[in-house]
Amino acid sequence: MQETGSNIEWLKKKLPPVVKLVAVSKNMPPEDIIAVYNTGHRCFGENRVQELLRKKDFLPPDIEWHLIGHLQRNKVKYIASFISMIQSVDSLKLLGTINEEALKNDRVIDCLLQVHIAEEETKFGFDMDELKDILAGEEPWKYSNIRICGLMGMSTFTDNIEQVRQEFRSLFNFFTSLKKDVFVNCEYFKEISMGMSGDYEIAIEEGSTMIRIGSLIFEE
Ligand SMILES: *Cc1c(COP(=O)(O)O)cnc(C)c1O
Repeated sequence: MQETGSNIEWLKKKLPPVVKLVAVSKNMPPEDIIAVYNTGHRCFGENRVQELLRKKDFLPPDIEWHLIGHLQRNKVKYIASFISMIQSVDSLKLLGTINEEALKNDRVIDCLLQVHIAEEETKFGFDMDELKDILAGEEPWKYSNIRICGLMGMSTFTDNIEQVRQEFRSLFNFFTSLKKDVFVNCEYFKEISMGMSGDYEIAIEEGSTMIRIGSLIFEE
């Protein structure tokens, strides 16, 4: 598809170079992913393990895959050998499982901790207080085969852009406080993954380092 490749090129021209773009290819067939790949883009995100596994073998091996959707612990083993980043870590148990599977594969897997910032109850993620308590414990620091590279969050689905801005701002402030008090001198704790097709501009204004864009890239 001609359009698919041109959409991402248009988007990339608008983005500050420090913001990393994850092209969210969920529901898209391999042909469309290849069209984007052929523009030189390498970083793609999928939200379901089964779909990722189904498509992956039809696609070039140098794609950097990010898992961005809710992940069940019994599925970690299927992606541990190749996944570049798991952005949707929402429990300490899941983090432990990722560590075990990474160990079996002799890898270190980069993770983001998903924080619940939206008003909807349905969105996954840690509450900030809960996450602070977990990070104050010893358990997550025993995991030798994961790296906690930052936070991920999704805003409420609403037309109220002030609300979206406040939610992104709260994630940025939380990141900053963890950086100062918990991940002191940790050079890889640096990512704030926030912003999708409808709200990435606000997210970037509020300090996003990584945006996850699907429809703007893949739809005409
Ligand atoms: C689908 C999805 C996106 C991309 O959404 P668009 O609105 O299509 O850009 C980003 N993040 C997550 C977690 C998603 O599930």
